[in-house]
Amino acid sequence: MERTLVLHFHELWLKGGNRNFFLGKLLMAVRQSLEPLPARARIVHSRLLVDLPEEAVPAAVERLKRVFGVVYFAVARRVAAEREALFEAARQEVLGRQFDSFAVRAKRGDKTFPMRSSEIERELGRDLLERLQAAGHPGARVNLTSPGLTCFVEITSRWALVYTEKLPGPGGMPANSAGRLVCLLSGGYDSAVAAYKVMKRGVHLVFAHFHGLPARPGESSAPIARELVRLLTPYQFTSKLYLVPFEPIQRQIVTAAPERYRILLYRRMMLRIAETLARRQHALGLVTGDSFSQVASQTLHNLNAIDRAAVLPVYRPLIGDDKQEIIQAAQRLGTYAICSEPFQDCCPLFMPRAPALHARPEELDKAEATIDVEALVKQGVESATLEKYEFRQGEVRAPGAVGGKQ
Ligand code: ATP
Ligand code: MG
Repeated sequence: MERTLVLHFHELWLKGGNRNFFLGKLLMAVRQSLEPLPARARIVHSRLLVDLPEEAVPAAVERLKRVFGVVYFAVARRVAAEREALFEAARQEVLGRQFDSFAVRAKRGDKTFPMRSSEIERELGRDLLERLQAAGHPGARVNLTSPGLTCFVEITSRWALVYTEKLPGPGGMPANSAGRLVCLLSGGYDSAVAAYKVMKRGVHLVFAHFHGLPARPGESSAPIARELVRLLTPYQFTSKLYLVPFEPIQRQIVTAAPERYRILLYRRMMLRIAETLARRQHALGLVTGDSFSQVASQTLHNLNAIDRAAVLPVYRPLIGDDKQEIIQAAQRLGTYAICSEPFQDCCPLFMPRAPALHARPEELDKAEATIDVEALVKQGVESATLEKYEFRQGEVRAPGAVGGKQ
């Protein structure tokens, strides 16, 4: 049997002049996500419908869980928009299910269909009730206020769609509808979750990862960053990942600055380099996985002192989250396992014994006075390599490193 996925989205952005922009982005995202399944997505009467054969439904359902903008969706039976075909589809949909009461809700998108919505509800309701009674079903009872099962009917110009179950989508705004940011992706739990949260609001991310030399072979952080980017790419279809060798920069900071400021100065250098990359990529800000007071560099004072290094805004979507909440989000997202692999981040190397908790911006400026900041930023940017990833035909491909200057 042919099926149709009925996709529901927030009505808010459907209003006003931006409607077609968002709907267009959503339609594009749905099409790209479902390739190469034999599915046809289209917009009919302000609904996004995807026609597909029944065999393709499980795969399509999995893919739609990654399409931002979809609040929930339903797998509908699709039959000709005729009374008998519609009633028969509804019987098939309803009779095998377990419930204690039911209701029919109909929407007639095409007004040429001969029955009004209220007529469909009444007559189909009666038909189902009789059959449920005949079958001795415990749900043979109509309840219009809080039914155990709702049989939804939607009439389009040619088809009647019937469904009873709504599956949750990820919500949010359609991919790539909000502009671009650069995400500082560390390989820890936090930043990947932060990335997901801003992507969910329609932001397209360019990733920047700063890596040191591994303490032991096989424990570099770069493969973790790559894996994270692979996992996140299906949400936005293409990704760029900058890998910045950071150890030479850390060495200079370690040599020139007081030990207690080290981490804060690393962070300032990361922001500056990420900001330069952001300008190159026409990105409008930076994203980090900071959360208040999780570590010493994340006190209010220190975040203020760090941020003076950048002009672009730094977004911190996890700022109010507890570690436990972030870990749970990482588990749901699937990044938890990746981030649990052992790796040598750039920061444990050269860690201070007693980091400053309440640094002032002027103190950091002073600590940087003997460092050639501009030269280090240039060095970081020029030594960065860029990798591109894309999600096409249901797979993430990484055509490989493409050099630093893109
Ligand atoms: P995460 O916060 O992702 O769990 P972490 O705990 O190792 O990683 P923090 O010390 O909490 O890192 O760093 C705060 C934020 O700074 C990170 O969330 C990330 O955005 C950024 N950051 C830290 N280290 C790196 C790195 N090596 N490369 C890119 N960004 C980094
Ligand atoms: Mg952290």
